[in-house]
Amino acid sequence: MGERARPLNSAPVRPTGDYVLYWCQMNRRVDANQALDYAVELANQLHLPVQFYEGLTYSYPYASDRFHRFILEGVPETAQRLASLGIGYTFYLRRRPSDPNDVLYRLAARAAAVVTDDYPTFLAARHNASVVPKLDVACYAVDASCIVPMACFEKREYAAYTIRPKIHKLLPSYLWPPPPVKVTRRFPPRPSEFHTPVTTTNIAALIASCDIDHTVPPSVSIPGGRLAAQKQLAHFLQHGLARYAAESNQPSAHATSGLSPYLHFGHISALEVALAAKSSPEFLEQLIVRRELAFNCARFTPRLDSLHVLPGWARETMRRHRRDRRHPVYTTEQFERAATHDALWNATQQELLTRGVIHGYYRMYWGKKIVEWSSTYSGALRTMIYLHDRYALDGRDPNAYTNILWCFGLHDRPWPERPIFGTIRSMTLAGMRRKTNVDAYIADGGTGFSL
Ligand SMILES: Cc1cc2nc3c(=O)[nH]c(=O)nc-3n(C[C@H](O)[C@H](O)[C@H](O)COP(=O)(O)OP(=O)(O)OC[C@H]3O[C@@H](n4cnc5c(N)ncnc54)[C@H](O)[C@@H]3O)c2cc1C
Repeated sequence: MGERARPLNSAPVRPTGDYVLYWCQMNRRVDANQALDYAVELANQLHLPVQFYEGLTYSYPYASDRFHRFILEGVPETAQRLASLGIGYTFYLRRRPSDPNDVLYRLAARAAAVVTDDYPTFLAARHNASVVPKLDVACYAVDASCIVPMACFEKREYAAYTIRPKIHKLLPSYLWPPPPVKVTRRFPPRPSEFHTPVTTTNIAALIASCDIDHTVPPSVSIPGGRLAAQKQLAHFLQHGLARYAAESNQPSAHATSGLSPYLHFGHISALEVALAAKSSPEFLEQLIVRRELAFNCARFTPRLDSLHVLPGWARETMRRHRRDRRHPVYTTEQFERAATHDALWNATQQELLTRGVIHGYYRMYWGKKIVEWSSTYSGALRTMIYLHDRYALDGRDPNAYTNILWCFGLHDRPWPERPIFGTIRSMTLAGMRRKTNVDAYIADGGTGFSL
């Protein structure tokens, strides 16, 4: 089974099953998807076809036009690709409470086995713990998110410097192009009774028909889907990669990849990106070491919404500084409306509100200032998680929660003592002005890009 796959239950393979079901929760793609590959391999051994099931429900926390559109834009491409490979596809849009809530169970009841994504945060983590025990058929979770599988690490790593040498040692075994998907039995080409047809022209109407938060609009500049992800990667390889080492911390230089939403929703895999961008060790450090450190942390940490995750020195310094005077202090609502006194901070929040991401360098500033301008540390943590969960296209991800905690010292080291932060690293507007072109970013209307 290798390090990528693990059984989620002890139920047997059903010999009378009609297909192997791939329950796609996070890796919303067909190619370079080791979880689908695992389902195909199993199906080929059992001489069965494969059915790919992808659900989207109105009921998940913070479901909105933004996330629905991004996901729906990927569906027509997935349908086309699966049809060409002979794999069945059920995309089920659950729009309202009265719509059936048991499609997975019904599809699983006819399956020989179920394969799903091994993912350590948000819905997939919860489903794998709560839904799978109710299935009476063998179910496997496969890590199709990380390049070096999460299971290669037996414990939570302390910081980048502890995981880096281990990743570098293992990487040569995993940095290989994935094999093409090849089924030996084709799925009968008839639409499933639960399938919701999605075309580029009906997406707006589908979104409008869902009981979701219609006040969070789609991103103004980031379309969803695999084609969009590939275009973004091609753009980065041509215009950003060579400048990445020198300019990735300069938001107005546009030298970063912009791939985090696609990586989060699985429209593209980290493996494909790493193979294409192998020439930049600085980029691979972020894409592999930092990203997989986040997955490692999430895998071994039951709750990422708590300051208890932090190392002892960070908790101790916060204890000493918890009564330091904060001025100004903003509420979550003021942060959300980008209504602080600081034009740079407001621009970063505007970027989150309109595009659904914030440039990586200013994202640190965004987080550090929420720590500084909230009345408590735990309140600051809640505000950051809320704003990410609600607005970030790349949020609800191990990277989101661990980087938010980085603002409080996770995976970092002590720095010289300052008010409020104690020995946790702080950031200042003067520092941002010294190192980056703050005015150019603000002039772009807080989007980081000319729209
Ligand atoms: C407060 C705060 C919140 C953050 N929230 C998120 C989030 O919700 N989702 C998210 O993916 N990243 C988050 N990050 C990390 C980082 O800011 C983003 O990954 C990056 O800005 C995404 O833009 P990019 O794809 O252009 O990155 P690039 O610089 O092009 O990097 C390529 C990829 O490497 C990975 N990466 C880059 N920086 C980091 C990092 N510091 N830690 C882990 N992986 C990294 C990401 O997958 C990224 O897409 C957060 C950082 C901070 C300080």
